[in-house]
Amino acid sequence: MELGAEYVDIELKVAENFVKLISGKKPESFKLIVSSHNYQTTPSSEELSGLVATIQAVGADIVKIATTAVDIVDVTRMFQVIVHCQVPMIGLVMGERGLISRLLCSKFGGYLTFGTLDSGKESAPGQPTISDLLNVYNIRQIGEDTKVYGIIGKPVGHSKGPILHNAAFKSVGFNAVYVPLLVDDLENFLNAYSSPDFAGFSCTIPHKEAALRCCDEVDPIAKAIGAVNTIVKRASDGKLIGYNTDYVGAISAIEDGLRGLRGGKDEIGSPLAGKIFVVIGAGGAGKALAYGAKAKGAKVVIANRTFERAKELANLMGAQALTLAELENFHPENGMILANTTSIGMQPNVNQTPVSKQALRWYSLVFDAVYTPKVTTLLREAQESGATVVSGLEMFIRQAMGQFELFTNLPAPEKLLRDILA
Ligand code: NAP
Repeated sequence: MELGAEYVDIELKVAENFVKLISGKKPESFKLIVSSHNYQTTPSSEELSGLVATIQAVGADIVKIATTAVDIVDVTRMFQVIVHCQVPMIGLVMGERGLISRLLCSKFGGYLTFGTLDSGKESAPGQPTISDLLNVYNIRQIGEDTKVYGIIGKPVGHSKGPILHNAAFKSVGFNAVYVPLLVDDLENFLNAYSSPDFAGFSCTIPHKEAALRCCDEVDPIAKAIGAVNTIVKRASDGKLIGYNTDYVGAISAIEDGLRGLRGGKDEIGSPLAGKIFVVIGAGGAGKALAYGAKAKGAKVVIANRTFERAKELANLMGAQALTLAELENFHPENGMILANTTSIGMQPNVNQTPVSKQALRWYSLVFDAVYTPKVTTLLREAQESGATVVSGLEMFIRQAMGQFELFTNLPAPEKLLRDILA
């Protein structure tokens, strides 16, 4: 029985009357769900427990409480109450920030979760589709011992991480689920989800730099880059260890692109050595690319919208800094390498590009970190100008492989990941 009113007292009064009405006539298989909805907030654990008792007292066989997440941390209170509840309970937290309450229901002992038949036809905010519950999150395989991994970001809904990592976990029989985590404050999130159940995270915009500060230990390369895109909770002591897999993902893809150009798969040393390597952007991805290019012996140049940030990163890397306007006429030599690490050209702004087509003729290889769409305007124009292009999708696959290996200590199923993204 769904009473859907906003005012709990009214919901419970109606339920009470209904129970009286059917008293003595209730068939054995009949189960009564009495629900309460809060469309504003998620109350404290004590208040939620009190509500469970009140609903139970009305005569419910199954208690259902739906609240609203103002922050993803709110969901921990619902999990706490479900875990300790003595009667069957459906505990859901509505909204995008509450999504994990729906995905992890069976891990924390929830009676059921809801899915919509089609996206756009949700009966409550934040509901996933049944198809995603079954085929992306493998909800039937989730149990008490299932470890939780996830992508921390804001926004995070567009991430292909859950499709990739869940399929990869399943393919090797690793008992884990990978979920989207819309996080406003990284430190609060990590403190609230400090239990060993939450075993590791990918980090994306805007949290990669904050992640560096929040980890207990940081891998020296991630420290030198100044950005963490992977956090692993060490099983022995629960400490958070930060890594950066963006760097290897992007640089190895660009090196392979250059080797393909020269037909030199077996050559010794990096094909980046001695090349001018222009990085557009000075954020998390820009730092990873600049660090990687420098480590491979390239002459690094940083161009950024905010020139101060370009200068800051250039100073750190012993590189040259440019404004975006200066980049248009920057051609000290032919055959340079260009890497866009800004979000320019990303969906929905697919017609935008960080540099004019005319300026692209000086480059032999152009890389774009943006991977939605797979072929950006920058890559299309670079191709038309005769450059070799490397898609952000290649970086994405390789950084995800690095994360999978850190999460599981198993080799990543590369072919599966490539097939999924093909
Ligand atoms: P970030 O730390 O927020 O940095 C964003 C950078 O883009 C900054 O340098 C910023 O310049 C610049 N920027 C943003 N909007 C701009 C605009 N309209 N015009 C000019 N410059 C602009 O982000 P991030 O983590 O480095 O990610 C950047 C991009 O790389 C995103 O599109 C992300 O999806 C992509 N990425 C892809 C992969 C992959 O696996 N393929 C991995 C990581 C990131 P200011 O300094 O002036 O603000």
